[in-house]
Parts: sequence; C-alpha cells; structure tokens
Amino acid sequence: MHVPLVVLGGGPGGYAAAFLAADLGMQVAIVDRDARLGGTCLLRGCIPSKALLHVGRVIAECREMEAWGIHLPKPTIDIDALRARKDKVISTLTGGLATLARRRNVTVINGAARFTNSPTLEIAAPEPGGSSQTLTFDHCVLASGSRPARIPAFDIGSPRVMDSTAALELADIPASLLVVGGGYIGLEMGTVYAELGSKVSVVELTDTLLPGADRDLVKPLQQRLEKLFESIMLRTKVVGLEDTGSAVKVRFEGPEGPSSREFSRVLVAVGRRPNSDGIGLENTSVKVSPKGFVEVDGQQRTADPHILAIGDVCGEPMLAHRASHQGKVAVETLHGEPALFAPRAIPAVVFTDPEIAWAGLTEQEATAAGRGVEISRYPWAASGRAQALGRTDGLTKILVDPESEQVLGVGIVGAGAGELIAEGVLAIEMGCTARDLMEAIHPHPTLGETVAFSAENYFGLATEIYRPRAESATH
Ligand code: FAD
Ligand code: NAD
Repeated sequence: MHVPLVVLGGGPGGYAAAFLAADLGMQVAIVDRDARLGGTCLLRGCIPSKALLHVGRVIAECREMEAWGIHLPKPTIDIDALRARKDKVISTLTGGLATLARRRNVTVINGAARFTNSPTLEIAAPEPGGSSQTLTFDHCVLASGSRPARIPAFDIGSPRVMDSTAALELADIPASLLVVGGGYIGLEMGTVYAELGSKVSVVELTDTLLPGADRDLVKPLQQRLEKLFESIMLRTKVVGLEDTGSAVKVRFEGPEGPSSREFSRVLVAVGRRPNSDGIGLENTSVKVSPKGFVEVDGQQRTADPHILAIGDVCGEPMLAHRASHQGKVAVETLHGEPALFAPRAIPAVVFTDPEIAWAGLTEQEATAAGRGVEISRYPWAASGRAQALGRTDGLTKILVDPESEQVLGVGIVGAGAGELIAEGVLAIEMGCTARDLMEAIHPHPTLGETVAFSAENYFGLATEIYRPRAESATH
C-alpha cells in the first residue's frame, strides 16, 4: 500500500497532524501499535491523571469545609467504580477520536511500525499469527512519543514497583507508597494516592521538588505537601529495592546517611525517554541526539527528506500541547505554507494542589542567563476572591523587560493556576507590556485579576497593596 502521508503514532501530536492534513485535503494514514487513538496523553497520561486529580481535589475540599463549619463524613471509596469512571473518560475521548478519523477519511492502521528504508514502513500484525504489511509513503510525520525512563537496578520484576502507567491503573489503594522522583508525575500521582488514603513519601535526588520551576512558586506547594505527605526526602538516593513478599524494602542514602524502610508499593517517576530506538531509524538518514531525541529544524524536518518529527520524540518540554502545535507546523510545511515552530511561550502546568504554572521566561532562566529583568509579585492574600475561596496560598508574578516594559514571563502558583496561565501566554505571544496588562479591565472578583494586579504592583500602584510613597518607584 502507498500513502502520500503517513503519521507514525496516534498521540496528541500524531492525531492533530493527521486531522489537519485531512482538513487540508491530503490523503493520510495513522499507524499506531495501540488499538486506540490518543497516545500517552489520553490513554496513560494527561487525561486519566487529571480525572483522578479532580477526585482528589473534591476529597480535599470536603475536608477543608470543616473550617467553614460544614462537617462532612470521611468519604468511603469504591475503587472499582472510581477506576471504571476514569476508564469511561478515556473510552469516550478515544471513541471520539476514532469517529473524527472516520469522518475525515483518515485511514487508521493498527500495528508496530519500523522503517526498513526511508520511504518504507514494515507494520507488524497486531495479533500473533497475523501477517505484517508494507507501507510506502511520500512523507512520514514521526510522532512516536516517549516512555517512562527506567533504572535497571529497580527492575526487580515486582508488581509492587510501578511506573506511571501502572499507577494510573489504580489496582488498589496501597497503605503506603514511595514515589521516586519529585517531578511532574511524582507530585501529581503522589497527590492522587495521598487523597485516596495512602501514606505517601517522596524521594528526590536534587535539593528541591520540581527542579525546573522557580523556588517561590514551589514553596506554597511544598508547604501543603509537607502536611499531605508522610515525608519528603530531598538530596536522597534510592540504592536498593527488594520485594519481601508483602512489601518493598527500600534502602536510601541521604544527608543523614543510609536508612531503610518498607512500603506497600513504589512508583518510579524519574523522567521519560524518547521512542526513537527500535523503529529502524538507522535505515533512514534521520539524525538522533546523544539523548535519543530526533533532530529537527524549525519546520520539524529531520535530516531525511521524507521524514518530519514532532512531539516527545524530538525534544523537551515533553508536553501534549507542544506536540500538537509541532504536528500542525509539520503539516503546514508539507502543505507549502511558511510555517515555523518558534513560540515565545510554551506553558507548563503542574496539576498539583496548589497548581503551578508558568509561561515564557522563568526567574531561574533569567538568573542563569544573567538577564536583567524586573519581577513584580502579587500575593493572593490580597485578593478578595482568594480569601472567599479560602485559598490565599497563591502568588502571581510577572517578569518584565525594564527597558521596553514588555512582559517576558508569567509564573503562578495557586488553585486553578493552570487555567490562569493562558492569559500570560497570550500576553507574552502578543508582546504586551505591563501597562497593557494593568489597563485591561479584569472581572471582579476573580483570581484572574491577580495577573493585572501584579502589573499594577510593577508600577507600585496596586490598589490592595499599600506602599509608602518613597518606595513607590521600586518594583
Ligand atoms: P505520545 O502521546 O507518546 O504518542 C505516541 C504514540 O506512538 C503512542 O500511541 C504509541 O503507541 C505510538 N508508537 C510509538 N512507537 C510506535 C511504533 N513503532 N509503531 C506504531 N506506533 C508507535 N502533558 C501535558 O501537556 N499535560 C499533562 O497534564 C500531562 N500529563 C501527563 C501525565 C502522565 C502520567 C504522563 C506519562 C505524561 C503526561 N504528559 C502531559 C505528557 C504527554 O502525555 C506527552 O507530552 C504527549 O503525550 C506527547 O505526545 P506525542 O504525540 O509526542 O506522543
Ligand atoms: P520529571 O523530569 O518531571 O521529574 C523527574 C524527577 O525525578 C526530577 O525531579 C529528578 O531530579 C528526579 N530524579 C531523577 N532520577 C532520580 C533518582 N534516581 N532518584 C530520585 N529522584 C530522581 O519527570 P516525570 O515526573 O517522570 O515526568 C516526565 C515528563 O512527563 C515531564 O517532564 C513532563 O514533560 C511530562 N509530564 C507532564 C505533566 C504535566 O504537564 N502536568 C504531567 C506529567 C508528566
């Protein structure tokens, strides 16, 4: 079979690319080894984790109602019903993708694909005993995604040691859970299990949770997690795991020396690796970096004229919205449009409680680059809406170029920060100044106002923050 365009991988990068190609009149096929479209994000990532985080948030809110004089009984959890509801969210969305593919005449092929040469893929039969097929193409958009990074010493063959996929399956609510890695997955899934009732501990190699995020944004989250989790061990290494038959015995090496403890389950969440190996790229001219990422230019072209690459397989940040945007750039390039992937802001959201979100330049990046920026912060304690919600543990900050007063970065920690950051993305992409943000009328009372108020505070003019006049020139 020959297709003008094949998309290898049906995740948020792959299906966004294939659907746009079809909308632009191209004949396109998607190949995925999974029988369902959706990729990591829909089947074992963003969506199931957010469904479970929603449940965790509702449990927390019920508990927090105590402070308002509302006394609710401790919830009982029907784990089978919870799992079924989470799976229904996935099947509804993946069913929707199948319908959208059908309506657009996108051919969906199920099977593991491998390049035998540059314009040819060999697709294995999905079932044992079936026959494989050969597909030739004019162009391929490689969107094979990523998989959990593994630490060989942790591969002890025990079902008690999980990766994110296993943790999302929700086999049970373990009495105790050790999360190895204080990054996105560790903290999101740690929050889920802690709210469901597990005693959660986190072990992180570096001296901070979420090493990629600004410290002032991490602080309110860490303070809350210190209450929710049983322990947070920083600068600590796991040096051995052993399944005792009823638990996992974990040996640590930390600032206080060696120690060991037993946990019902362990979740290993120490990053992800690109799926660039085992797919025959050596039979093409595609170049792969030492870290395994496929190398691409601004139009998502690889070194092979027949192959473009998008999403997790071609670099960081490994985020679904980056993958989809790159997918659209790749297809627009093939369609002859002057497309370029050159965003000023790729938003990042950690969906913990509170959420942490940032876009554009971060304070860490500005410091590392020695770049002079003005930073204006607005603490949520001054926000009427945050007080009304009982969620004053937030902070909104903007990073401003002191000469042009252009907004270069926005960082937010607080309830719903992931929704609020969209305004920051737009401000940065549109080249807004701090004055633009200040003068755009925001609805009251909302948490969104804190973005405008942080701009007011940049000029020393925030209504809810008093500054003696002598200081009003400083930010
Ligand atoms: P993927 O979604 O990984 O899709 C790749 C597809 O290629 C898969 O379907 C795979 O089966 C297929 N494939 C691979 N090799 C072959 C082959 N040889 N033959 C056939 N098919 C193949 N990102 C966010 O932006 N927000 C979030 O909230 C978020 N939460 C996450 C939570 C978890 C627990 C995890 C693990 C990830 C999360 N991510 C989140 C990251 C997000 O899932 C990825 O960035 C995104 O899925 C990348 O999209 P992609 O299209 O590049 O690849
Ligand atoms: P991560 O890179 O976010 O965090 C991994 C953490 O593990 C880091 O803090 C690192 O210092 C630590 N670590 C590494 N080796 C360790 C070891 N041996 N012992 C203890 N700690 C160790 O990776 P992740 O949490 O696995 O998530 C993978 C990727 O998936 C993310 O980087 C992100 O791109 C994506 N993701 C995004 C979201 C979201 O957008 N909300 C959610 C989940 C995952």
